[in-house]
Formats: sequence, structure tokens, C-alpha cells
Amino acid sequence: KLSAHSVNLWFGNKHVLKDVSVTFPRNQITALIGPSGCGKSTLLRCFNRMHDLSPDARITGEFLLDNQNLYDHGISVTQVRRRVGMVFQRANPFPKSIYENINYGLKINHIPKTERQGIIENALKESYIWDEVKDELQKPATRLSGGQQQRLCIARTVALRPEVILMDEPCSALDPLSTLKIEELIVKLKKDYTIVIVTHNMQQAQRIADKTIFMYLGEVVEAGDTKALFEHPQQEMTANYVRGRF
Ligand code: ATP
Ligand code: MG
Repeated sequence: KLSAHSVNLWFGNKHVLKDVSVTFPRNQITALIGPSGCGKSTLLRCFNRMHDLSPDARITGEFLLDNQNLYDHGISVTQVRRRVGMVFQRANPFPKSIYENINYGLKINHIPKTERQGIIENALKESYIWDEVKDELQKPATRLSGGQQQRLCIARTVALRPEVILMDEPCSALDPLSTLKIEELIVKLKKDYTIVIVTHNMQQAQRIADKTIFMYLGEVVEAGDTKALFEHPQQEMTANYVRGRF
């Protein structure tokens, strides 16, 4: 499992995450919800060390993957990112071929050349896009539709066999049908991965998430089983938010 303990984060003087503790259980989908600016993306980024290069970010607290502290001196950012993969809101394939989009990550992680072809094929199959692209692997990835690009980006992540996949609003730029396809894919992936998904779509959280965490102004207000959180919220703030009264 992936977890954060008593995390505080400041950007300069701005206190953005306030004593945040969360747990993302293995082989479950956890939805992270809350109004714009409450710190969802900021929290997600901590788990794969995306703030390391930002000089004004100061972080205290602990981030653990099983028993490994993700900020230990003994673990490199590359190692962290290999174990904790990230998929973004706007699918962002490189302006290269479909094949090269996945191959690139394999190269920088020193996966032997002889194994790469098979891994690429499997990752595309696993991400429900193989049939659509198998005859055009050398074509530019940027020519794919938004939904296909998003599935390619998921393939790029699963090719590296991470333990966790973090997804920051992976469907918000997609039409309803592509969204359902991605949801189906995410649900299938949970048997192999721990999945965290940030979403503004309350129906989506209820369709796919086992667990839901509600954040407000940098704090975790409520966390629990998705059905319980939506049907019997313990906090008034949660009730207002999930019922669209914000
Ligand atoms: P949204 O739903 O709109 O994506 P969010 O919950 O993901 O919102 P964050 O992007 O995590 O919110 O932002 C949380 C707060 O931190 C916001 O007030 C934002 O302005 C601030 N913030 C984010 N990144 C930085 C940064 N690099 N420097 C300074 N402030 C930042
Ligand atoms: Mg965000």
C-alpha cells in the first residue's frame, strides 16, 4: 500500500497541504475529490517526487510505499518513478511514433533491447489500444484521438510495471464514450496495480472507486468506502460537496 503521514507542504509562504494523512490500499482504486485548488494534484505529485525540482516547495511528513520511504537518500527519483507511475489530465505523448513513446521509457530504464518489442506489444494490449494501432506503430502518436492518446499514455506507464498508477483527471479532456473505455480499463488494471484517480466527476468516482477521499482547502475532510461516503457522509462539508451544493 501507498500512504502519506502528517504531510505539510508550502509553496513559499502558502500552506497548501495541511497535516494530510492518506492510505491507498493495494489493488484498490481510490478517488481523490474536492474543489479546485484544494491540493489534489499537489498531493499526487508528492508521491512521485515531482516537487523535487521546484525550489519554493517545502515538504514535511512521510510518504511510504510498503515500508520504503519514498524520500529516503537511498532511493533515486528514477527508482521512485519506476514504482509509482503517473498519468496526466491531458494525454501528453511525445511527438514521436507510437512505438517510440513506449520504447523511450524502456530504454532509459535499461530494459534489454531484445525484450522491448514484446513488452510494448503487451502494454498496448493491456491498455486496450493494440487492435487500433497494431498496423501503425511507426506513425506519430500525436495523430491519435484524445482517448487513444490517453490509453497510449497508460500503456507507457504500465510498460514499466509500476506498483502504483497515479491518475490526475485522466478523463476530463475526453468525450463520454472514451471516458467509459478508460474507466473499464482502470477497473481492469486494479488487479495488478494500486490506483489513485483525481476526478471532478462524482459519477465516475462512484462507478469505479472502492475508496474515496474528500479534500478541502488542503485538508482531508473525510475518507472511506465510496458508497458510504456518498450515501452517508459524516461531515456536512462532504455532504454538500458530493450533492453538488458547493
Ligand atoms: P484542480 O481541481 O483545479 O486541479 P487541485 O486540487 O489539483 O485543483 P492544486 O493544483 O494541487 O489543486 O493546487 C493547490 C494550491 O496550490 C492552489 O492554491 C494552487 O494555486 C497552489 N499551487 C499549485 N502549484 C503551485 C506552485 N508551483 N507554486 C505556488 N502555488 C502552487
Ligand atoms: Mg489538479
